[in-house]
Parts: sequence; C-alpha cells; structure tokens
Amino acid sequence: MTDPHPDLECRDLTKDYDAFRAVDQVSFDVPQGSFFSILGPSGCGKTTLLRMIAGFQSPSGGDLRIKGKSMIGVPPNKRPVSMVFQHLALFPTMNIGDNVGFGLRQRRVPRAEIRARVESVLERVGLPGVSARRVDQLSGGQKQRVAIARCMVLEPDVLLLDEPLGALDLKLREHMKVELKSLQAAFNTTFVYITHDQSEALVMSDNIAVMNKGRFEQIGSPHDVYHAPTTAFVAGFVGDANRIDARVARVDGRTLTLTAEAGGDIHVEAADTGLRVGEKAQVFLRPEAIALATTGEGQGPNRQRAQVDSVLFNGANSSVTVRADDGSVFKVALPQTGEFAALRRGDTVFTQWDPRQARCYASTGG
Ligand code: ATP
Repeated sequence: MTDPHPDLECRDLTKDYDAFRAVDQVSFDVPQGSFFSILGPSGCGKTTLLRMIAGFQSPSGGDLRIKGKSMIGVPPNKRPVSMVFQHLALFPTMNIGDNVGFGLRQRRVPRAEIRARVESVLERVGLPGVSARRVDQLSGGQKQRVAIARCMVLEPDVLLLDEPLGALDLKLREHMKVELKSLQAAFNTTFVYITHDQSEALVMSDNIAVMNKGRFEQIGSPHDVYHAPTTAFVAGFVGDANRIDARVARVDGRTLTLTAEAGGDIHVEAADTGLRVGEKAQVFLRPEAIALATTGEGQGPNRQRAQVDSVLFNGANSSVTVRADDGSVFKVALPQTGEFAALRRGDTVFTQWDPRQARCYASTGG
C-alpha cells in the first residue's frame, strides 16, 4: 500500500525569539523521496526552521509532522531524521568506520551488524574499503560522502542538510551538487536542504521554497521559481535579473506602459499584475532576455541606444554590461558566436527585449 502522508508536513510553523519572529507561519509538504530546498538570504530564518524540524528548537506555534505523526515535544534523538552539518562534524580521532557507525553504537546495535551496515553504506556512497582510514586522509568531497553515510546508515525518513557545500571550493562544489543529487536519488530518501546559493537549489531540487524575512514567498519547481517568480523578491533573488524601477502610465488588458525612473517608456505584457495607473512598479528582466542590435532601425518596443561598459567572457556566454543613453545599466548574456562575438568596451549597440519576457510587480520599496 502506498503511504498516504508526505514525509514532512509543516503547518503554520512559527518561531519567536522574544518579540522577534524568525519563522512566520510557514506551511509546506515534502513528498517521500524528493529533494526540497529552502533558499534564502542570510538571516531569513532557514537555520531556525531546519532546527525545528530536527528538534533542536521548539516551535512557538504550528505543527510539524513526519510520516503523519506530530513531532511536537518529541526529542531530536527520537525523531526519524538525521542532519548533515555545514562543517560535517566528523570525529577527527576516530577512523571512518567508527565515524559512520557512531549512531548505531549509541543505539546498541550488535557489533557484527554495525560492521556490515557501515561497509554497505560506504559502498553505496562510493567509498568501499575506507573504514580503517583516518578522516584527515580523505579529500573534501570524500568527507562529504562520509558525513552523508554516517546519517544514512541510521535509515532516517528525512535527511536535513545545513549548507554542507558552503565550505568547499568552487570546483568541488560544482561536482558535489551533482553527486548529492544522485546520492539522494539512489537512496530514495527525502532530503531537506538549506542554502543561500540559488545555483545549488536550482541544480539539485525537485522543489524550492524561497524564504524571506521568516516567510515562504514561493514554493515551486526550479523551473517555476526561475521562469515564473510570483513576487519581486523571488524575481530578484533567484538568478540574475535587471531591475527597472518605474511608474505605471497605462494599462490596457495585459499590456502595460510604464515610465522608467531613468526616463523613457517601457512596455510589458503580463497577466494578473494587479497594477493600476500611477502605481510604482518593479520590472525584472533576465540578462538572456535582452538582445542586442547594431542599429536603431525597425524600432520595436523597448529598444534603447547604449554603450558597452564591459565584456566578461565566461565560457559559453559573455556577460556584457551596457549603459543606456538614459543612464540605466543592463546586464546582457550573449552567446559566443554571432555578430557580437567581437564586442568591445565603448561600442554603441541597441538593446531590445520582448514585452512578454519581463516580469512586473507592485513596488515593495526594496
Ligand atoms: P544564515 O544563512 O546567516 O545562517 P538563516 O537564514 O539561517 O541565516 P537564522 O539563523 O534562522 O537565519 O536566523 C533568523 C533570524 O533569527 C536572524 O535575524 C537571527 O538574528 C535571529 N536569531 C537566530 N537565533 C536567535 C536566538 N537564539 N535569539 C534571538 N534571535 C535569533
């Protein structure tokens, strides 16, 4: 029979530190075997939320269920969860096998069974035969896998991960993103991962909750939060975005004409913005949504003359910064091939973008 409950359910989960509300009525479900990320800037409440799930902190309000059972009042060691900490917290004086078997020894599992389970889990994380090695004889990536093995050997329903890639260098981090995702799929265990790094969340997650000031702004697939952000915060925080501050001059069904603060009209086509004439708005445009042209001819909407400020080559694309005649600055992602391959600082170009490519929100003043 299939399990009717999601592995993790949070309802109006709240944490107050005296008068300060760090987590504010957060509700979400995480289905079994999925990778769920909580993504947000420093101080938004991610760690507090994760610590409530782990049981290290008690909620001020709301409910938290794992496999349908409320965890309120249940101590951490009685919850079917395990946690990978940012600094991994491996015991340097123990060998790998003793590190991985630590939790099983605490649970008084027989020695022969511990040995078998440790070997088996080390094999599953791709580290067979390392039991006798010391922690300091492993690479950074291998230590990550040992930390995961140490948790997975306990067969938790939910694995909590507190920015475990934060301390790694860029190259290893890129590699470990892929590895973590495939380990999660191989174990088919529910992972709840917190991070402030949107690229980690986009690569690994089935679903992402974008958190800001204690609240979830949006929960959705990586594709949704990137391409269809529901709030200005999500549009600005997930992925690169150019922001244009403007005021609504005309609304005609889905078509809005706005006057940019820097001057000039812009045209946006978007459903359900709720914006009215005279209101302040924020328009977000991905760097890849802006195209360049060599002439101002064939004037479509949203075409501006600009000068190239800088061209940064980053492999498949160039990241070009241009300054429009009205002073506004745009970041443009350009493919390496085509007529702009040899673009230089100081060149004159024309920026243009499709009104349907922009996202438009009432200004939050941020
Ligand atoms: P970071 O990514 O920097 O770790 P975070 O998103 O994990 O940030 P939290 O550590 O959950 O954020 O903190 C959320 C807010 O609650 C912060 O403003 C923090 O200062 C505050 N806070 C955290 N712990 C306490 C505490 N024990 N007492 C009072 N305020 C706290």
